[in-house]
Amino acid sequence: MKENTNPYEIVKQQIQAAAEKLGLNDGVVQILSRPMRVLSVSFPVKMDDGTIRVFDGYRSQHCDVLGPTKGGIRFHPDVTKDEVVALSMWMTFKCSIVGVPYGGGKGGVICDPRKLSEGELERVSRGFMEAIASFVGPDKDIPAPDIYTNAQVMGWMMDTYSRIKQTYSPAVITGKPLSIGGSRGRSEATARGCVFAIVEAMNQLGKPLACATVAVQGFGNAGRVAANLLHELGCKIVAVCDTTGAIYNPDGLSVEELEHLKDDEHSTINDCHGFSITVDELLELDVDILIPAAMENCITSENAHRIQARIVAEAANGPTTPAADRILAANDVLVIPDVLANAGGVTVSYFEWVQNLMNFYWTEDDINTKLHDAMVTAYRKVTDVAKEYDTDLRTAAFMTALLQLAEAMEARGWV
Ligand code: NAD
Repeated sequence: MKENTNPYEIVKQQIQAAAEKLGLNDGVVQILSRPMRVLSVSFPVKMDDGTIRVFDGYRSQHCDVLGPTKGGIRFHPDVTKDEVVALSMWMTFKCSIVGVPYGGGKGGVICDPRKLSEGELERVSRGFMEAIASFVGPDKDIPAPDIYTNAQVMGWMMDTYSRIKQTYSPAVITGKPLSIGGSRGRSEATARGCVFAIVEAMNQLGKPLACATVAVQGFGNAGRVAANLLHELGCKIVAVCDTTGAIYNPDGLSVEELEHLKDDEHSTINDCHGFSITVDELLELDVDILIPAAMENCITSENAHRIQARIVAEAANGPTTPAADRILAANDVLVIPDVLANAGGVTVSYFEWVQNLMNFYWTEDDINTKLHDAMVTAYRKVTDVAKEYDTDLRTAAFMTALLQLAEAMEARGWV
């Protein structure tokens, strides 16, 4: 039977598995198995050639028992409502695991920003914010960047919201440029947090980081910075890929060269010194650390038994299916699950929001120290639960969050 890779079905299975281990109240599971609210929008944008194109998008608010909802906005041709809902559900768990007082939210617009001009991208960004402006807000639901959105997109959205409300409102969105209330360290935070988790995992396994081999799938915000930070720690980055292809060098790729090629609009990472391979081959390389940092469902029951990495650190959301998880666990591959591994992004987004509300800004050292504390505390909390219940880190991470979510639901009289 073909595996169900619908992320909404997957996250429900993950919640169910963790709730069963805890023997949790069915009411808690029922509440968490669907989103609180989902807004579906269509909005017109005038294109450069004078035609009008209508774009479709979604904003999902999963559960606000712990605080206002929070999560990125993705611009991608494959965005679906189920994907956005699933991503908002993962956010609820992620925030709880890392001790950030938010619920889960997520947004997405069906579009391919690589085919839009700068002006069209700005109009899509402003159009989407206009369409969701009454649904979001600093105490309600706070967006951030995700796939193919960046600080500039956040800046346009913050400006649109501020104009509509006629109030300077930096706290409505995070991941903004520094000049309008962005936080130092935010653009590197997802990768930095992931690296803190990897360091903790390697320490617990008693493995040295120096010369550890690393393959990174996806060379954007999360993957590119993770490759750089691990290189600085002495790891050997042997393979990276993006949508243009994958490149491999068993002696280690030059991270400086990759950076240069990525920034040069006439080159791709495939021009780096090394061998061209496929993205599938990259995933199956014999490396110490594999970092999926692109899309969902890249490790499935089809390829999981060929994964040779010792650690899979999920910088991306939802890269591994439940069936693949079982195969990896049986093969003794340590999976640092997305809800833990990439929680550094929302952690520093939270710091950005706090700074905006206080109108008082911290240094990058302050941010990185606080991020380190949050990630290490979360990692140790999750591994303790994993040991106590003799389970994998994903189930343990969901269990850790479920305990807090259930307690808050009880305190608010929901269950
Ligand atoms: P990004 O747009 O900056 O980068 C995505 C990268 O993946 C690009 O290099 C792209 O070329 C590559 N890619 C896309 N599809 C691919 C495919 N099929 N094969 C190979 N490469 C492919 O996005 P990002 O912000 O780095 O997000 C990547 C992942 O990390 C997503 O799952 C996202 O949800 C997750 N994440 C991001 C953040 C954040 O703060 N940006 C936070 C938490 C989680």
